[in-house]
Formats: sequence, C-alpha cells, structure tokens
Amino acid sequence: MPQFAARIGRAKPSAIMAVAEKAKRLKAEGRDIISFSIGVPNFLPGEHVYAAVHEALSKDSGQYGSNRGSDALLDAFIEHMAQVGLTGYGRVNCATGIGAKHVIYNLAEALLDEGDTIAFAVPYWTSYLDIADIVGAKIDLLPCPPEQHYKLTPAQLDAALAKKPKVFLFNNPNNPTGMVYTAAEIDALADVVAKYPDTWVITDDIYNRMVFDGIGYRNFVHSRPELRDRVIFIDSLSKTYGMPGWRVGFMAGPESVAAAVTTLNSNHITNIPEIVTAAAVAALSGPQDVPTQKCAEFQAKRDQVMAVMDSIPGIVCPKPQGAFYVFPDVSAYFGKSHEGKKIANDVDLCNALLESKGVACVPGSAFGEPRGLRISYTCPTPQLAPGLERFREFFAELN
Ligand code: PLP
Repeated sequence: MPQFAARIGRAKPSAIMAVAEKAKRLKAEGRDIISFSIGVPNFLPGEHVYAAVHEALSKDSGQYGSNRGSDALLDAFIEHMAQVGLTGYGRVNCATGIGAKHVIYNLAEALLDEGDTIAFAVPYWTSYLDIADIVGAKIDLLPCPPEQHYKLTPAQLDAALAKKPKVFLFNNPNNPTGMVYTAAEIDALADVVAKYPDTWVITDDIYNRMVFDGIGYRNFVHSRPELRDRVIFIDSLSKTYGMPGWRVGFMAGPESVAAAVTTLNSNHITNIPEIVTAAAVAALSGPQDVPTQKCAEFQAKRDQVMAVMDSIPGIVCPKPQGAFYVFPDVSAYFGKSHEGKKIANDVDLCNALLESKGVACVPGSAFGEPRGLRISYTCPTPQLAPGLERFREFFAELN
C-alpha cells in the first residue's frame, strides 16, 4: 500500500471532541447529560445578520471572490479593531480565513519551517499543539501553573525568547483558563518581546470582546506600537457573535504576512463565500447589543461557577476574567475513589463525573495541564445550577 505523508502521523483528532462524543453517546442512550465540555457560545447572532444574509442571497453573483477577503469585510474588520484601539491598519495588513483556526494554520505554514521552534504557554488551546506538530515545528512549552494564575511571567518569556524561537504564540483572554492579562502585565511582557526582534508574535485574541470586571483588553501593540511590524493579531466571529459554524477568522499585522496568508488562501480555500461575507460584515458593523448582552451574561455565569468552585474544599481555582471557561485544579482529589472506582488522574475523574453524574468536562491533560479540568459554562442557563450542583455532589462523594 502507498504510504501517507509523515505529517499525517503527527496529526491527532481533537481531545475535546472525544469527550463531546462520549457525552453525545450517553445522551442518545437516554441519559440526562449536562455538557460543560465544548467551547461553543450557544447563542444566535442578531436579526440583522440574518437580514443581511437574505439580502445577499437575492444578489449572490456565484463568482469567485477575493483571496484576502472582500473589501467590505476587510473595512468592517479594520473598523472593528479601531474600536478596541488597534488603529493604523489598512486592507494590505489584513487577511481572512475559514475561522481563526484556519488563519493560525496558515500562519504556521507561512512562518514555520520543519524544525523551527514555536513557544507558547501551558495550559494551551489544544489546536496550537496539533497544528505545530503537523507542520513539524519544535514546541517549547512554557508552564504556567495555577500558583501563577496560569499566566506567563516576564522572566519566563525572557528565558523563552532568549532561545530565539521563530514564533511566540500568545492567547489572551485564554482558553482553557479564562485568564485575562492586565494592562500592566501586557506592558511588562511587551517590553520583553521588544528585546527579541527575531521572533514573530501571534496574539490569538479571539475572546477580546469577552472581558469582565472592567479590566479591559490590551495587546502588545497597544503597549508598544512599534511591535506591529512583527505582531500578528488574530480575531474571529465565532465566540463574540455566536457564529462558530459560519467560519470567519481574521489576522492583522505586517503586509508581508497578510500577503503570505492571502497566497495560501489562493491555493486552498480561494475565498470566503459571498453569503458568509455578508453575514460577517453585518455582525461586525451592525448593532452590538447581542455580544454586549452575552458578555454580561457570561460574567454572571462565571460568578455562579466560581461560587461553587470556592465552596469545594481542596479545589484551587484562579478567578477567570474573560471568555467562558473556568479551569479548577482538582489534583487534591487524585488517589481518592468514587463509588469504589479509583480516581488516579484527570481523565479518570472526568470519566467518573460523566458516568455517575452526567456532567461532561474536559480533562486538563487535553490542554497540557493534567492537574485541572475545563468547565465551559455556555450551557443553557437553566442547566447551569443543576450541573454545578451535580459537580459539587460528585466531589463530596469522593473518599
Ligand atoms: N483560538 C482559541 C483560543 C480558541 O479557543 C478557538 C476556538 O475554540 C479558536 C482559536 C478557533 O476559533 P475559530 O472558530 O474562529 O476557528
């Protein structure tokens, strides 16, 4: 039989989807399952998005579109960035893709040769590791344990960048921890980034509109505008607008990088479909009440989840200030048993929680931090309190 390319041997299916699949199977068997597993926002975009789609359908030219993204979409994105203080970008600095994941994949192809190093913090969004593996990059993992609130310190970054990785990938607000760096923390990290001109910096900031407690969102480019010649900002419609399946992602950065992503687009996707483009322009440029209201709801849900985490003895849970994730350290319970079953690690714990209580969470090892588990709290509001109550019961029953 002919052989596969080596890179496909390095590609792994998503660990998060494995939990979701198991939860789905149990549900199909008639079990009452509450899912805290996948990171879907669970709300629909505003009416104006659908209206724009209907209008576009009646005019759809059915033609190929721009490899970079239509002018209207790029302009809407540029205006959207300006609202969070990221100004001075033109169309030539931007490119679009089929979701942020695709844009990040394109960037990995564009910036990393096989054997080049990419550095990023742990816990990480699972796809960073998988994408880096597929392109054959070396990965420098920078551990950010709960004791440091899952945040990278300037000293850690300095040590990592001194080794001259080709790419440093940074995620703020963070999936899976929900952590948000303060302005002062971003400034301090930006000072370190400025010392190492040979490293590209990708800032995956797709949750930048989901920041709580008034702490605000900041990028290295806010701290040091001169860094825009090697910082690549990533955004997406998926989470902010409740549009994960519409698949629209963006980058803004140096012209050369946007051109490389555009060239890669021209060789695989060609363009984002016209109908999707119309939806995206409407989401970015239209009324922002849905994302604003959802952000407030997520903050209230975060408080609800944290109240339960704080009430369970032994759980250590840094308080998240963005996105829709909580990442408790549950390792104090490893070695205990539930209904006679030994809980040796995060995977055992999540399996027992799902099987006995019907609550699906993702084991922390999927994100490189096996002491924790991820709770995504976007389930329908009436399910949140009962799901958390079952979670609390489960931990009370561990002995
Ligand atoms: N980056 C992070 C940190 C994410 O959590 C996700 C999705 O879960 C993505 C990127 C991908 O987003 P998109 O749906 O735009 O591909």
